[in-house]
Amino acid sequence: MGEVVFWTIMRAALTIPAVWILKEYINYPVWWLISVAAIYGIIIHPAIIHYRLFKEKNKETIESTLCSTCTNFDKTAVLCLLHDKHPTKDYLPCEGFDWEPKSTEKDNEDIFT
Ligand code: SF4
Repeated sequence: MGEVVFWTIMRAALTIPAVWILKEYINYPVWWLISVAAIYGIIIHPAIIHYRLFKEKNKETIESTLCSTCTNFDKTAVLCLLHDKHPTKDYLPCEGFDWEPKSTEKDNEDIFT
């Protein structure tokens, strides 16, 4: 997930100044259209595609591993918060020894929301 955020920030850091500089050379109404198209086409759309690929790649880990039922698992980052490592469908950082079922009220809220 960090990779998605990093490249989105990098694209934004290049696109926004370029669009700002372009403002000096073209008509204001055209500049607005180009700005919106550039921000969507260069920053937002690639970020959405990158995020979908990330979710697809980690779908099995998020939905059907021991970690997916553990209170120490952060599904948005596909990260074991206890060991600070990324589990996969074939790799559990704790090998199952530190598994804690989601059983607190907060965890149950996460499940049903
Ligand atoms: S403690 Fe173990 S079961 Fe829980 S998220 Fe981490 S690696 Fe997975």
